[in-house]
Amino acid sequence: MGGTRIFRPNFEKLETGATAKTVVIAGGAGFIGSNLSHRLIAEGNRVICIDNMETGRHENIAGLLTHPNFAFFLHDILDPFRIKGPVDRIYNMACPGSPPKYQRDPIHTFKTSVFGGLNLLEVAEEKGARILQSSTSEVYGDPDISPQTETYRGLVNTVGPRSCYDEGKRGVETLFHEMHERRGVDTRIARIFNTYGPRMDPEDGRVVSNFVMQALMGKDLTVYGNGGQTRSFCYIDDLLNGLTALMEGDDPLGTIFAPVNLGNPGEFTILELAETVLLMTGSQSDLVYRDLPIDDPHQRCPDISRAKSILDWEPKIPLKDGLIPTIAYFKGEISGRQTFAARSVA
Ligand code: UDP
Repeated sequence: MGGTRIFRPNFEKLETGATAKTVVIAGGAGFIGSNLSHRLIAEGNRVICIDNMETGRHENIAGLLTHPNFAFFLHDILDPFRIKGPVDRIYNMACPGSPPKYQRDPIHTFKTSVFGGLNLLEVAEEKGARILQSSTSEVYGDPDISPQTETYRGLVNTVGPRSCYDEGKRGVETLFHEMHERRGVDTRIARIFNTYGPRMDPEDGRVVSNFVMQALMGKDLTVYGNGGQTRSFCYIDDLLNGLTALMEGDDPLGTIFAPVNLGNPGEFTILELAETVLLMTGSQSDLVYRDLPIDDPHQRCPDISRAKSILDWEPKIPLKDGLIPTIAYFKGEISGRQTFAARSVA
């Protein structure tokens, strides 16, 4: 273990507007983090992207690496670090979100949320920066009420295959709450429901990426269980609008410091998703049924009343509309691979 790393982003030659901010994005090369990186750079901000590339992808940030407002540091937030210069905002998007990925090294997953979150909170405290934690609908476990409101305490197994993720996120929510209450850190907590869109990892193992890739490649779609379980799918652009609204929102009554659900209340069974993907891709693939993973939630649907009232936010993009650019993106990933394979053979 080395000592504390010091990052020195080189932003001297910048010409940005007065409202431009310096924003740290931990996990800035992952699916949500990289889309956020692109959005914030396009809006004229400086972005300091920190990623250990465990599930982050080089392709997601390749187009930003030469941008003068973008600085990338290969680093695991579990190890302490400091940043030279001012920081206005910190988004903690660092933690694998896909069950097969976060279950690969459960102890590391748990530590990433809790100890990594604490390291970021300490940077926020030192810098006087506002910090947002990406939490998850998984804090509700396998819920016995639907839709899930923020006041619902959840039904979570502490010792199952999903616990490293669920309990890690619950733990980091507690840390955010206490760092706000006791040390005055300006915190936000977003409980993010299933999100999809461009820059998802095609090999992620999640249902949208699996189904679309399988359909496009003429493979059977793998339905776990009987496909009657539900999820509510939010398109990435809608989620980014919610995240930035939560980060930039103020609330004189202080309720903005409590967790906020961000998701699309449109609820679908997994079979409905499979049928929609087959229809929209024009694929002739069949469905095959596989065992339902242990503790797989039977239903999931956000109650977004709180986000509507305090952020004036709600998603605008229905599943079928969001699947159009998503399918186009996965097609591009497949043809990129084919081009690469053809070049490798030549
Ligand atoms: N799922 C499925 N086939 C797949 C991948 C996932 O039927 O190839 C199911 C999974 O069992 C779950 C739902 O789809 O019920 C969503 O799974 P995902 O891994 O995308 O996210 P999470 O379970 O974390 O919501």
